[in-house]
Amino acid sequence: MTSDRRALTAAALTAAGLAVMHAGPGIAGFGPVRRRFFPRLSGLGRPDHVAFTFDDGPDPASTPAFLEVLAAHRARATFFLLGSMVARAPQLAADIAAAGHEVAVHGWDHRYTVLRHPRAVRDDMTRARDAVADASGVVPRFYRPPYGVLSAGALAAARRLGLTPVLWSSWGREWEAGATPWSVHDTVAAGLAGGGCVLLHDSDCTSPAGAAAAALGALPRLLEECEASGLRAGPLAEHGL
Ligand SMILES: [Zn+2]
Repeated sequence: MTSDRRALTAAALTAAGLAVMHAGPGIAGFGPVRRRFFPRLSGLGRPDHVAFTFDDGPDPASTPAFLEVLAAHRARATFFLLGSMVARAPQLAADIAAAGHEVAVHGWDHRYTVLRHPRAVRDDMTRARDAVADASGVVPRFYRPPYGVLSAGALAAARRLGLTPVLWSSWGREWEAGATPWSVHDTVAAGLAGGGCVLLHDSDCTSPAGAAAAALGALPRLLEECEASGLRAGPLAEHGL
């Protein structure tokens, strides 16, 4: 890495950190900079494929409807599960995996990793990884931190557990006031191309009521548009990361 590149990367990390400090829930910082300098972390993969990822479940109130839409479109996806939610609905975590979807780790508690002691982050991630594996029978490969904010401790813990951190390249902002299926669709589609990684939420457990419903309403059209563009929708496991 050249010194110019190093300086740019340091500036990008600082900008991302500042953006995070001033942002509300669900904000991950400086997306364009991250996509350019950290393409793998942003989930950028095979150009003929789009990874669909769902955070914050499994939620008996909303996740089954996502599974139905995906099944109707013969699409599979990655579900970043919260350990605390898996503990309440272990059978639903098993159902997600049994339907052919990928299960992944979103932590146990939905808390900023940068505000916690590295040991607490490691214990949280280990507990969540074990809960996901025990409930689904599948050892997860990927980790996404709550709010998309990775601390050094979270990176180290993920490495120890053999988990690859992945954020996203497009999101629906369904947690924002006034979000609708149409706004979610348009927000995702504006940044989406082959190789992209879509973030949506299949639970309202960390978002205002109605967020998951807005995401669910956007999902059929997004899947249909991928298919019409010759892009396969699938899990991160098939995304070439
Ligand atoms: Zn989350």
